[in-house]
Amino acid sequence: MYTHVVRVNKESEYRFETGETAVTVTVRSGHAEVFGAEAAVGASYVFAPHTKAAFFTWHGAELAVVGEPESGYVAGETPMPTYANVHGALQTLRGEASTKAELTGPVVVVAGPTDVGKSSLCKILVNFAIREGAAPLFVDLDVGQGGITVPGMLGALILERPFEIETGAPDGSPPLVYFYGHASPGANAAFFERMLDKVAGEARELFALNDEVRAAGAVINTCGWIEGDGLRLLKETIAKFQADIVLVLDSDRLTQELTSTFKDTPSTTVVKLAKSGGVVTRSATFRRSARSSKMKDYFYGPHRDLAPAATTIYFRDVQIYRVGADEVAPLSALPIGVEAAAEPVVVSKVTPSNELRSCILAVSYAQSEDELLDANIAGFLHVQDVQVDKAKMMVLAPSQGELPGQFLLVSDVQWFAD
Ligand code: ADP
Repeated sequence: MYTHVVRVNKESEYRFETGETAVTVTVRSGHAEVFGAEAAVGASYVFAPHTKAAFFTWHGAELAVVGEPESGYVAGETPMPTYANVHGALQTLRGEASTKAELTGPVVVVAGPTDVGKSSLCKILVNFAIREGAAPLFVDLDVGQGGITVPGMLGALILERPFEIETGAPDGSPPLVYFYGHASPGANAAFFERMLDKVAGEARELFALNDEVRAAGAVINTCGWIEGDGLRLLKETIAKFQADIVLVLDSDRLTQELTSTFKDTPSTTVVKLAKSGGVVTRSATFRRSARSSKMKDYFYGPHRDLAPAATTIYFRDVQIYRVGADEVAPLSALPIGVEAAAEPVVVSKVTPSNELRSCILAVSYAQSEDELLDANIAGFLHVQDVQVDKAKMMVLAPSQGELPGQFLLVSDVQWFAD
């Protein structure tokens, strides 16, 4: 097996991308971190095929790399010192909030085009905060990637431990999961906006209930779609979460646009940050396969150590719904803060058919149809086969046992399991 010793000088990082095979990295000496999470000296970290990551060091480190990465190099220029400065400023705000009950720690929105390192920056800021004993709320609104649960959903969780080094998965309290059902916020912008209200409201509730989280604030990841309705939804996100700081990665135009929109909101500061040279652009095919592996992560675990259960569900035991939108004026025609006049979001009952095959069904905590749009999601099922004549379907569930609810929502983001 190919073993390679990599010496990384201070304030540099070893960037690598795995190919078709896994690669193991061990920190032999010194100190190194992966997206802000400290790697233990002597521990071996196994990176699955098609992973891109970096071991950064502040003071120097020696790494042993076992396996054949598709690419791997040491870069001396990284934006980490700038990101650490941003973190320092956030810690000052957290310090103030921890002594004054009327203050909330910094609510940070990370924005920018696709593939600029938004998710990575969120991880870095959250991990730095955790290393200083803070427990921030992490909110993922990037429905295309599904950083917290499966793609197509919004999620939020309080993090007390760093993101996992090997898989990048968040490790914290059970997440609050909100159904959306599409890989792009534009597919049902009215519903997305409604969900933004909901998640922002619940974040405020969490701050009111939990002093530690209130003082730590929130880090919010957003979607890379920043044109037209995408831009509008980003502005709504900033407004609805009452963001204190908006970090814009790699876009002068977006920085200017947001600065001018929020110029009369002195509590919101927009800051442009450079993207890391290590951020890798992902093709549409890669994105699709990344979505598919996120689905697999949900059922089989990011380390593939979970055992999902094949289960039969009889149509009589469940009620399946889809969330749609009525035809209304495009949201972009409305000024910010003005709600669409009609209630544009509707739920409609789905008659089970073969079309459900390969669909992801979200199991809602709703007790009735009226609660469907507002209830959180307990978990997901993957439809493997539908037998209409026998009024049943075979699904993959995370575990054996009774479903936590009988109301199911169909997501448009399907999974074609390999
Ligand atoms: P975005 O959220 O803006 O789409 P990501 O943060 O997901 O971007 O980054 C895109 C890809 O680049 C990810 O696979 C991530 O792991 C990788 N990446 C980010 N920063 C680095 C880095 N410094 N070195 C190597 N890979 C990186």
